[in-house]
Amino acid sequence: MSGAFQVPMPDNEPVQSYAPGTPERASIKATLAEMSSREIEIPLIIGGEEVRTGRTKKAIMPHRHGHVLATWHMAGQAEAERAVHAATEAWKEWSAWSSEDRASVLLKAADLLAGPYRDAVNAATMLCQSKTVYQAEIDSACELIDFFRFNVYFAEQLYSDQPMSAPGMWNRMEYRPLEGFVYAITPFNFTSIAGNLPTSPALMGNVVLWKPSRPAVFSAYYLMKMFEEAGFPPGVINFVPGDPRAVTEAALASPDFAGIHYTGSTPVFQGFYRTIGERIADYKTYPRIVGETGGKDFIVAHPSADDEALRAAIVCGGFEYQGQKCSAASRVYIPAAMWKRIKGGLLDEVAGIAVGDVADFRNFMGAVIDENAFKDHTAFIEDARKSPDAEVLVGGEADMTEGYFIRPTLIQAKQPAYRTMCEEIFGPVVTVYVYPDDQWHETLTLVDRTSPYALTGAVFAQDRRAVREAMVALRHSAGNFYINDKPSGAVVGQQPFGGARASGTNDKAGSMLNLVRWVSARSIKETFVPATGYRYPFMGAE
Ligand code: NAD
Repeated sequence: MSGAFQVPMPDNEPVQSYAPGTPERASIKATLAEMSSREIEIPLIIGGEEVRTGRTKKAIMPHRHGHVLATWHMAGQAEAERAVHAATEAWKEWSAWSSEDRASVLLKAADLLAGPYRDAVNAATMLCQSKTVYQAEIDSACELIDFFRFNVYFAEQLYSDQPMSAPGMWNRMEYRPLEGFVYAITPFNFTSIAGNLPTSPALMGNVVLWKPSRPAVFSAYYLMKMFEEAGFPPGVINFVPGDPRAVTEAALASPDFAGIHYTGSTPVFQGFYRTIGERIADYKTYPRIVGETGGKDFIVAHPSADDEALRAAIVCGGFEYQGQKCSAASRVYIPAAMWKRIKGGLLDEVAGIAVGDVADFRNFMGAVIDENAFKDHTAFIEDARKSPDAEVLVGGEADMTEGYFIRPTLIQAKQPAYRTMCEEIFGPVVTVYVYPDDQWHETLTLVDRTSPYALTGAVFAQDRRAVREAMVALRHSAGNFYINDKPSGAVVGQQPFGGARASGTNDKAGSMLNLVRWVSARSIKETFVPATGYRYPFMGAE
């Protein structure tokens, strides 16, 4: 094939509204009903083959935990080793595919998801991760479609970055895939991340072991079927949900392990880093370690901030998807005079949030992901009820009779270092600290020093000087920084996402910075008329 092919210019996938009377609403409701009426079996997919281990778990709905969506087979160490073998076999062909052929697979995946798979992947995300239809649409449809299309575009830009050539030679840069396989471990909370972590390395010519998160195996399986239909050859992406420790041990014990693409909590990532470090001499190449991890995302309001904008940001930024977004606002700093003005309205608004089954479109929030999360979050709330340093202002009611429901909860911390101001909760709990009106500068220092994380953060101020001060004081406090906007809702191609400090390696998913991690460049120098002697002019006789 000859031709300097150009991939289509990407644009963000339009978000469907699902408002009453729209065709998309009727269509997703039909899919929800159909998916809820049957139970499927989910095998592993290794080297293109379905594998059933007989060791199974149930995929359930968090908002109706008695309802089983699927039975899925669990991989152990033996199956993960088989997947490592399948991946390294597939590498021989896939790593030699042209970039256009690989791009076509991703672009087809984007169109499959925008079209025939949209309802299935959205409905699966709603049912097994308890997302409202809008939260599913912006995640499992739009963001993942964007990841596919924008990554293809960024890959082309990376490939076109070529060195200069002096006369008599031609210098080139070849962006090879890594020599080995990439291990992708994905979190429960974003189907788009689950889809992006295996496919972005694959786009760059790598082969992948993909271990989805337990509560999200159901939606992950639909993605895997879509990847197969899009044209990834067998073994390029191997689907190995299962025992996290056993699968990880098989992956990290292989000399062909070439990289990890992880999103999830901080301690788990630090464990991988440690193991990889201890085994560094055993690997054929130095593994790429990419991880996006926990957060303790802040909103800090200046006395000049707009009351209404701040209130809306707290509610949407803190409670959408039950606060289970890595970017969710969870600690808020408000000046005393403003707090007096907004407190009543804010509490009323939070008290009025509808929580329930996501198939009922009137609800703004569903259930938290599982029993462990339910117990963790309620323990934080109980602690706040008992502590002299905190007060539960609204919410806090929790009931797991039918589903893992926790009402959106607002805590006021009387001490800025109270634990819900510092520790990641990852649930529908927002803590407010009210600071004296004249302590803006001190408060900025507090925001910066309070947590080890640095994922997202927002400043609200009308006074431009205050915005500037926050930009400087909080320069390293957030990898995604927002001015007069909630700290969540990053869009691919617009706000590349990732945090620093304990929040991750900040390789910005959905940007060229991420793709760079999945290539190993080869510099090529070709000389057209080579020198035939070794003597330099300076060696000539006087
Ligand atoms: P988690 O850490 O429980 O799980 C993440 C993945 O790691 C899952 O696939 C899980 O099975 C696996 N895992 C867990 N323990 C393991 C072990 N001991 N060995 C090997 N694998 C193991 O996280 P989660 O509950 O799925 O997601 C929530 C966390 O993810 C939060 O901390 C959140 O901040 C973070 N997150 C971060 C970002 C980001 O971009 N920074 C995005 C989404 C989620």
